[in-house]
Amino acid sequence: MEQRKFGKSADPRLINYFFQLIIKFLNNKRQIRCIHKVEKLLDPDTKGKPHKRFLYGYLDKKDHIYISADPRKNFDKEEMSSTLLHEVIHVVMNQVGEEDVQCLEKLIWERFSKRQKAILKSYIPKEFSSRRPS
Ligand SMILES: [Zn+2]
Repeated sequence: MEQRKFGKSADPRLINYFFQLIIKFLNNKRQIRCIHKVEKLLDPDTKGKPHKRFLYGYLDKKDHIYISADPRKNFDKEEMSSTLLHEVIHVVMNQVGEEDVQCLEKLIWERFSKRQKAILKSYIPKEFSSRRPS
């Protein structure tokens, strides 16, 4: 059976549409209240427990997004932007489970153009936030 291969040059309309959707959500304060860049991000579910877990990103119940700048999680701004995309996918598709969101993040991120990645990157705050998810 012949396997169809989808290269990165596959029809970009779906990716461009998705990009517009992501930006629309990022610009709507009612959907995403605020983005916080934090030095490290402890999983609030493991707070006070013996096995603490640190996260790449987190979306809290008040629609705040946290992005970890810890290089053991997000190595650079590029990875932080991919994590931001991940958290926005959670907002856009709030019924979709973690594994599928991870899958979508990878599929979409690697198809974004350099320019689209740069635009997403510009949403990562310059300053660190002291707020933590509760
Ligand atoms: Zn997730």
